[in-house]
Amino acid sequence: MNPWHSYQLKKPLNPEATVVGWYGGHPRGIRAHQWPRCRVCNAPMCHMAQIDAGEWIDLQDWARMSLFICHATGGRCEDWDPWKGANRVLLQRVRDDSLYDGPPTVRVYRRFPLTTAPALDERQVMLGVKEDGIPLAEALGELRHDKLGGGAVWLHGDDTPQSVKGSGPMRLMMQLTTDLVAFDITAGGMAYVFIDSNDDSDDAAFLLWQGA
Ligand SMILES: [Zn+2]
Repeated sequence: MNPWHSYQLKKPLNPEATVVGWYGGHPRGIRAHQWPRCRVCNAPMCHMAQIDAGEWIDLQDWARMSLFICHATGGRCEDWDPWKGANRVLLQRVRDDSLYDGPPTVRVYRRFPLTTAPALDERQVMLGVKEDGIPLAEALGELRHDKLGGGAVWLHGDDTPQSVKGSGPMRLMMQLTTDLVAFDITAGGMAYVFIDSNDDSDDAAFLLWQGA
């Protein structure tokens, strides 16, 4: 998979569109005992999104990732931090589309499917800055949307987590905005999901966010 390619996430406009995942609602394939709880306040976390493996994302050996975040304490759990345990990227090796009961959560976002735009070569966008004098802010603005892969568009400087199990930066898998869903990460905030490619455990992926 080309690391420069990114796939913008969109609501499907026609029924034939390939579904790559979902925002909101009740997640599929998460049994009650697997439902993540906040390590800070112990409340069951709120479900944000599920993305399935496919040509649109390099999930390595996993079949699906599911994103959760703690909304139980109005931010006191520091749910923007990748290390605190107030958010969770749940990686599963087998895709299970069954619906299981889960605990009640303080918030449920409306569920809808996601598809992607064709691959965008972000290297071409950045070459436009280097060679054609396109302002950097304008080029980054073109990448400031919900997407899989490519590079992160930071609101407040580069927060790329470093590998814990090896060395070097983690790889961006997904970038979320508040455009498609008003995720409670402050309006205009952005969330980022990274994976530690040196870690083959189910705890290899991390979420963090920056407020607007
Ligand atoms: Zn919490």
